[in-house]
Amino acid sequence: MFYWIETFGCQMNVHDSDRMADVLRASGWQKAESLENAELVLFNTCSIREKSEQKLRSEVGKLAPLKERRPELIFAVAGCVAQQEGEKLLARFPVLDLVLGPDNIPELPRLLEDQRSGAPPVARTVFDIDEPRFLTATADEKRVSAFVTTMKGCDERCSFCIVPTTRGPERYRSSDEIVAEVARWVEGGAREIVLLGQTVDSFRDPALPPAASDDPDESQFPSLLRKIADAVPRFDDANPFAPGLLRLRYTSPHPRHATPSLVAAHREVEILAEHIHLPVQSGSNRMLRRMIRRYTRETFIERAAALLASRPGTTMSSDIIVGFPGETDEDFEETLSLVREVGFVQVFGFKFSPRPGTPALKLGNDVPESKKSERLARLFELVDAQLAAHLATLVGTRVTVLVEGASKLGDAFTGRTQRNEIVHLARDLFPEGLELAGQVVEADIVSANKRSLAGAPTERAMIHLSTLPTHAMRVRTVEKRVLQVVA
Ligand code: SF4
Repeated sequence: MFYWIETFGCQMNVHDSDRMADVLRASGWQKAESLENAELVLFNTCSIREKSEQKLRSEVGKLAPLKERRPELIFAVAGCVAQQEGEKLLARFPVLDLVLGPDNIPELPRLLEDQRSGAPPVARTVFDIDEPRFLTATADEKRVSAFVTTMKGCDERCSFCIVPTTRGPERYRSSDEIVAEVARWVEGGAREIVLLGQTVDSFRDPALPPAASDDPDESQFPSLLRKIADAVPRFDDANPFAPGLLRLRYTSPHPRHATPSLVAAHREVEILAEHIHLPVQSGSNRMLRRMIRRYTRETFIERAAALLASRPGTTMSSDIIVGFPGETDEDFEETLSLVREVGFVQVFGFKFSPRPGTPALKLGNDVPESKKSERLARLFELVDAQLAAHLATLVGTRVTVLVEGASKLGDAFTGRTQRNEIVHLARDLFPEGLELAGQVVEADIVSANKRSLAGAPTERAMIHLSTLPTHAMRVRTVEKRVLQVVA
């Protein structure tokens, strides 16, 4: 039995697709070589920023002839569109056999078995509110960088976002379970762990009483970071091939929970990356109110500054929506001024598009497309200039690169620094045949490109690498980075 999964959307969806592959493999399915050879084709959909239904319609259109030729082919839709539309999708797309919500992944093998036995098409989109299930990767999977889910759902109500509808209310995993999964990945060779949640920093340990604090924005997320750092073996420079965690990241935090305790964790927990992704969405208080973001421009700037000051050299990236309903030129200028003031080195920028089922639908879509494009271009131009200026300051410095794999052209290894800058290390600087994915390489930065750095391994790094065991761990290189999880 062969499956094929197509994934659209954010890191949460990529993670869900991996878990679907796990449960399928555990029940005897194997990955097909191509979609045409599959007996199950599953689209894991996203409805946050894309014209998802249109996209799904076009994919379904392409698949219909295949289904006609092979009626036994099972065609399933999962993810946010599946959760949002449920049975309506079955009515709209008669070729569909199965519609599956994100909380129903564990039921996939049973539902497929039913389909193979001739059951009618079915939609299964029930939230696991009372007993949330968190799927973990299979024990034999190895990666340089691994995602670990800490929570699911979202209790915010940002007016542009469908996530609270498609992913349900917030539910948290116990910190013991999270630590155990992190430890297992690290034991298997992962050097970087990315904690994953829709508002990852709102974490509350379901096994513990709520933290005593007068600040409603405080959460138990900083304690979780400390617990992981204390419990999981760290990467040891003196023993560079032994398992150990080099860096810990998280995505995506909500600025509301960027509290003094989180700043203190960044100051004190060494393995936390010196880079934070903190979605702001707009620099205008008027827009932030319309977006129901529950913070002001001033609070965001203050909190971002505290995080950036927590450790010298820390950098920050963000998410920004341009052309939100009612956004004037002045509002947009405020966004640009915030981008300058905080000094973001990367921004995931998006043109607003009305999403069915979101409160912002009522606000209309009054900013012309041409204006949105112009604003997005200006935003990117500013951020590119800030990134280039930042990268130029790094020439001549020494960095630690976690190598993720080969560059696109194959002439260099590519990795990231502690601050998330991309570094290319020319292959011809290393002995022929050396495989570096997953290795930690000390490097001197020799030049800066527009969006990346070029580095050369230090003498010390070359001495370490000369002892690289021939059985160097085989790890899955980092997936192409996709959209941030919204927050
Ligand atoms: S944008 Fe983030 S915080 Fe806001 S509703 Fe969506 S997932 Fe929740």
